[in-house]
Amino acid sequence: MNIAIDGPAGAGKSSIAKLVAKKLSFVYIDTGAMYRTMAYYFLKHGIDIKEEKAVAEHCGEIEIRIAYENGDQQIFLNEENVSREIRSEEVGNQASVVAAYGAVREKLVALQRQMAASTDVIMDGRDIGTVVLPGAELKIYLTASSAVRANRRYKELQEKGVDCDRKKIEEDIILRDKQDMNREISPLKQAEDAVYLDSSDMTIDEVVQEIITLAKGRSV
Ligand code: C5P
Repeated sequence: MNIAIDGPAGAGKSSIAKLVAKKLSFVYIDTGAMYRTMAYYFLKHGIDIKEEKAVAEHCGEIEIRIAYENGDQQIFLNEENVSREIRSEEVGNQASVVAAYGAVREKLVALQRQMAASTDVIMDGRDIGTVVLPGAELKIYLTASSAVRANRRYKELQEKGVDCDRKKIEEDIILRDKQDMNREISPLKQAEDAVYLDSSDMTIDEVVQEIITLAKGRSV
């Protein structure tokens, strides 16, 4: 069984998907981490991410590997573990730019489908229900207002001791949504057969419970 969770930045997809995966003994795949890893490579090698042709030419130099340590996804870029480095807001914003390019998406979609083919997965991203796993047994479109999402991200960063500005975070989130929803290839949108969940007024546990109930209903 495959579960697809799509939605905008900061909707809580990864925290929720991780918990659902643990409860159902599924493998959790964070596809945003893959786009972040590609962006990180281009940044590190001084490749101008606004130049689609240059980005496409360098895609072949990148090898991405996913492994699990105590159930946590670790991501390797040409065998270097970059799981921590890719988490910055800067890399997230750059990921949204390179994610609009066909060469980047083709490479990652192939990897994602290959991973989902052999085991039960819960995969989160922007195009999982619409493009990557259109046959997924359960699809969720998880969202929340941009103010709630910005607040959650702000608190998360503060807890990690990262100095940040709430207003700037909300502006970045709105810009990222706009880029992700309006690109030509695989824009973020709700799949026709996805269940819409607005988590603005829900706790993480409530959302997790709702998804588990839906999943159990689909697998009978
Ligand atoms: O989910 P996360 O914030 O880590 O994703 C970073 C960026 O990667 C997103 O803003 C989006 O542009 C891109 N992405 C995508 N398709 C996915 C997952 C992420 O385009 N399946």
